[in-house]
Amino acid sequence: MTVSDRPARIGMFGGTFDPVHLGHLRSGVELCEALSLDRLHMIPAPQPPLRDRPNVSAEQRLALLEAGIGDTPGLVADGRELRRDGPSYSLLTLEELRDDYGGDARLIMALGQDAFLKLADWHQPARLFELAHIVVMARPGYAPERSEALAELLGGREVNSVAELMTTPQGRVLAVTLPSPMRISATGIRQRLVKGESVRYLLPEAVERDIAAQRLYALPDSGDTA
Ligand code: ATP
Repeated sequence: MTVSDRPARIGMFGGTFDPVHLGHLRSGVELCEALSLDRLHMIPAPQPPLRDRPNVSAEQRLALLEAGIGDTPGLVADGRELRRDGPSYSLLTLEELRDDYGGDARLIMALGQDAFLKLADWHQPARLFELAHIVVMARPGYAPERSEALAELLGGREVNSVAELMTTPQGRVLAVTLPSPMRISATGIRQRLVKGESVRYLLPEAVERDIAAQRLYALPDSGDTA
């Protein structure tokens, strides 16, 4: 059976990407390989949680994501949440992707372990399973423990292999450990940039270049000459 004979396998990987880094991008590439995805939509959320972000807009985060992805096969920088009014619930994004790809496509929402631990607090979390599978990626520094609410939400949905996951279009959960886990966080990168420290090899060169050229994440110039 050739690849075109089987239902499409489409991934959604959302985040603040503030900024995108190699932990995101390498995970994206390895996830595509591990699950034989046809495409992975990387989708920045317009409203990151409140934090000290003096000068970086959602459009700039999307532009950095585009620069970071470059011509990487399979990865797509998808700005759909920036073009939508109202709250940026993943549920709405999955609904759109389900409409785009049809009922037979295998739709996979990918999450790092830290984001997965908070899943029970999301908007209508049980409904996510009516639209997609969830694949959880191990992330260094985050243990695979879970709250009672999360365990209840997962119910009997967990499977142990990609093959099992792909037998249905949605509704199951798979935990994966990808080959190259990276202890990189956007928080750490922002902290380094504010202090003027090197971020080389934590994010793609094109992203580092654009951040430097636009002086993103740096403290605003106080104008003091003293
Ligand atoms: P911040 O430090 O600002 O919270 P972050 O580095 O965690 O940012 P996000 O944009 O918040 O990045 O994360 C988007 C998604 O990517 C989440 O599902 C998160 O778990 C996952 N992710 C982020 N960094 C990694 C990493 N190094 N390895 C695997 N998954 C990651």
